[in-house]
Amino acid sequence: MNKYQEALGLIKIKAPINLIEELPRHPDKKYKNRKISKIKRIVVHTTDWKTTPLRIAEYDIKPNHISDSGCPAITYHEMIGVEGDIFQTLDYTEVSWHVGMWNPSSLGIALCYRCSNKKGEDVYAPKRALLHTLEVRCGQICLNLGLTPDKVVGHRELKGTGWTMFKGSKRLRKTCPGKKVDLDKVRRNVARFMQIVLGANGLYTGKVDGLFGPKSNKAFQLYLSQE
Ligand SMILES: [Zn+2]
Repeated sequence: MNKYQEALGLIKIKAPINLIEELPRHPDKKYKNRKISKIKRIVVHTTDWKTTPLRIAEYDIKPNHISDSGCPAITYHEMIGVEGDIFQTLDYTEVSWHVGMWNPSSLGIALCYRCSNKKGEDVYAPKRALLHTLEVRCGQICLNLGLTPDKVVGHRELKGTGWTMFKGSKRLRKTCPGKKVDLDKVRRNVARFMQIVLGANGLYTGKVDGLFGPKSNKAFQLYLSQE
């Protein structure tokens, strides 16, 4: 066993629970479909509430802040529950409504935790365990879809939906997935996980430093060509 295989053995996250067929959908509306190869990024959100996929699906398909007549189905493709469960909530081929013009090329993944206080100020951080699950899950998805770690972004980082230019400077529209979520740190940990998997497969021999440079990229390309 090499050191990467040892490290991989120590990473424990739960297996995903597939709820796609169980969640309620809108009676007559449908999302557009796409090929999986159209997905170019994973967008991280917060529900800003300790909620469940069922409650989010029920909210999304009724008249809401996104659509006057409700969305066709839940807007997130996956959710990470309060206890660190990973729920698959929508097929990746469905173009759901979570980031405006970025929807056709984005996958939405939501963290179930409360970031705002009673005054609506974004002040609370998610538990480290929840972030760890997010980072490993995003790493798995990146490996499957051929996305590099820099393709994991927060809702607030996307132009138009997360921020806009106002009088020559950047103005934030959203703080999602929560101000206390350090997205650079998330990406570094996604990269670390990917380096471990690439090493465990005998394709990477460098440091597990979360810096996805030429050596990591070369190993990743080899990994993808072997599939
Ligand atoms: Zn969001």
